[in-house]
Order: sequence, then structure tokens, then C-alpha cells
Amino acid sequence: MVTEIAGDEHEPMFATRRALLEPLSMAIVGALESIGGPSRPPPLTAGSPVPAGVLRVEEVPCTRCGIQVALLVFAEGATDRGQFEDVARLMYPRFAATTVPTHLIGSALGPSPETYRAAIMQVWPQRAPVETLTPAQFWRRIHALIRGHFP
Ligand SMILES: [Zn+2]
Repeated sequence: MVTEIAGDEHEPMFATRRALLEPLSMAIVGALESIGGPSRPPPLTAGSPVPAGVLRVEEVPCTRCGIQVALLVFAEGATDRGQFEDVARLMYPRFAATTVPTHLIGSALGPSPETYRAAIMQVWPQRAPVETLTPAQFWRRIHALIRGHFP
């Protein structure tokens, strides 16, 4: 029996998934051994990379020098922490290769453009709680990152 844990071993939620899965895996192996005799299960390993599907990713450049200052991942359909964690797990190799702040942006919520908000979660280099922001509130943050790059 092989138990694989989804995601990259260096991703922050990997240890949590391992802590949840390991006792279950041991219990299942124990139950199988009680029927079929002892075995030597291989240790739990990180799952093989799975294609993440297609998510729109946007690199935000500094408007003066062109260096990337932020990464935006459009997490279509994500509205809660669990869905954002799924996207963060799938996209980890992409944003962990950068040093810039990375935000996951969920679908627009609200009946009309005047009231649009979106659930947004910063996942890199630090994780932050999911927030619900208007486009103007979010772009103020991104513009602050761009301004922060000016000499
Ligand atoms: Zn710059």
C-alpha cells in the first residue's frame, strides 16, 4: 500500500495534511494486516505533481523599471479558505520560485460592478487570512507595492 500526500513537501500546509493522513494510513494498514498478515508499508511520500488545470496568472511589473513586484493568481470560483488552500497547494511551485507578494483572487461577488468585491488571500511570502475587498481597495495595495519599488 502506498499513501501519497498531495502537494509540495515545502508548502506550509503539507505538514498539516501529513498529520491528518498518517494516522488514517496506519489504521488502514493495520486493518489490512489483521486480515492478510503483516506487510511492510512504504513510508508516506509526497504525491507526484498533478497538472493544476488552467488558472490565469498575472505578473505585475514596476511601472518604472519593469521588475516584477507582485504575482496575482485568479482563483476562479474560490470563495472560502478551503478553496484558497487548494489553489495555494496547486500553485505553490509557481509562487515559491519568486520573492514577490502573491495574492489569490477569488471570483467577483456582488450583484453589480458598483458593489463587486472579491475574496482575496495573500499566500506568499507570508500567508494572511482571506479578506473581502473591493477592486479599489485591492489595487491600492498593489499600487503601494509598485510605489515601494521607486527609489
Ligand atoms: Zn522599479
